Amino acid sequence: MLASKQKAPENRNYITLFRTFADKVEINLEDKVKECRLKDNLCRMCPRCVLFGAVSTEGGRGADRWNIKHRIEYSSAYSIEPYERISELITFNAVNPATQSTGQALGYTENVRPIANFPSVITLNSVTWHELLWYLKTLMATKSYGAETRVKGDTVNYIVGIVAGFEEVITPLELNLELCDAAWQVDPIGTVHEILKKYASEASSVDVVKVLEPDEVKKVVKGIKKFEVDNEFIEEFAKIAKDFHNRASGIA
Ligand SMILES: [Zn+2]
Repeated sequence: MLASKQKAPENRNYITLFRTFADKVEINLEDKVKECRLKDNLCRMCPRCVLFGAVSTEGGRGADRWNIKHRIEYSSAYSIEPYERISELITFNAVNPATQSTGQALGYTENVRPIANFPSVITLNSVTWHELLWYLKTLMATKSYGAETRVKGDTVNYIVGIVAGFEEVITPLELNLELCDAAWQVDPIGTVHEILKKYASEASSVDVVKVLEPDEVKKVVKGIKKFEVDNEFIEEFAKIAKDFHNRASGIA
């Protein structure tokens, strides 16, 4: 599963969820934030632009052309199940209008069979607590991945581990290889915890790595699901992004 295919829907959902909640708690966002769109109309002042990055779209000489670098890292994820078991070729046919019979196969699409698992690692760089919370909320809310999302690409995200440190502690490929060798189905969170502890002990600065215990992971997930998004939260979240924009553009 390509990193870009993971990032795009989460990027869109992150701001959609933010605007929807702003509406719900009756916060009137700035017009530029309301109109912020991928990929040619990024406002550079909303929480999405500040985390996922934004490239200036203003043209002309002397235009205000500064960009925001993203602080979120994705890598392509690989299925735990072997390719042969989850790959499926589906042919499509042409219907003959005279006889209504299907003729020869016109072509085929390659599909992933249901119930395939793609362990992924996403790294957030120097995030605020608002951003951590909002990103995890987005992750849990995002279900449609892939180009043909009307009919394909449905995915459910489960958070099975959280680790913090000054570096990326484990890559998706490493996580995948470890899981392939483990009986993870019985207790995915416990299994990932053991794997994270092993990789944390190999980090370049072991003292600053923190692996959340399985119970803590469950608590975080539950807490985020139950977190009450009020107008104070939305206002503060919007303001931090706006302040960043002002500092970066030299207004403040
Ligand atoms: Zn924006």
